[in-house]
Amino acid sequence: MPKPSLAGGDVDEDLLIEFPFTCFLLRNGEENILVDTGMKESYLEQMAIGECHPTGSTQFLLEGLKEEGLTIADITSVIYTHLHYDHCANGELFLDIPNYIQKAEIENMKNPYDFQIARNDYFPDTRKWVERLKKLILVNGNVKLANGIELYLSRGHSLGGQTVVVPTAKGRYVLTGDTPNLSWSLFPYQDEMLLADGSKITVTPVTITRFALHNYITDQFSAYDTFYMQLGLAQNPEPEYFLGSHDPGNIFIKYWG
Ligand SMILES: [Zn+2]
Repeated sequence: MPKPSLAGGDVDEDLLIEFPFTCFLLRNGEENILVDTGMKESYLEQMAIGECHPTGSTQFLLEGLKEEGLTIADITSVIYTHLHYDHCANGELFLDIPNYIQKAEIENMKNPYDFQIARNDYFPDTRKWVERLKKLILVNGNVKLANGIELYLSRGHSLGGQTVVVPTAKGRYVLTGDTPNLSWSLFPYQDEMLLADGSKITVTPVTITRFALHNYITDQFSAYDTFYMQLGLAQNPEPEYFLGSHDPGNIFIKYWG
């Protein structure tokens, strides 16, 4: 459990929360779409931070799909929020189906800034399998797909982040990727956070800024633009319509299907 810096400063510096690596399954009766592809075993050692050794595996993905009665072969397309290692580790399993990736993200992966290299944002094998994608769909900006899902270029964390808007019978949900990685960042006036076991913890609200930034936001001006855009894209600009890629509460919440 890495120590989060919830507001970019040292608010709640002793607070420890689970920081899950998530991916999402979107189903509409015809398509089974993955947003990001999760973690795999061979990445784990490279990701250790001090005493913190993350867990995760391709098996997690397979078991999650199995719970929905699906296998890898049933996935019809993949949408990536970005290509950092913790979002695309199982990409090689989906080479033959459409992959929606922002053009700017692929450029960023090929030409990372030195701080991104130091942080190990992009793993070498990602570049190799991206080049082998048979049905890569380069998204250049914003697009609405035939199934109603909307994709938006979202800078702030990487150069080619992608926000995914999912219209459902319950409203328009926004998958934020890592800009922000915790949806709490969009609503930092909240004084509690949902954990992976369904319980809630008290956190210190942030009131001096509109949004809560953190160490993983690399471009604060772009992040603010992305955050305001996302608030406008949701059914309502309320926390229930936002899912960050690393929200602990995602672990047990099922919004669709
Ligand atoms: Zn990331």
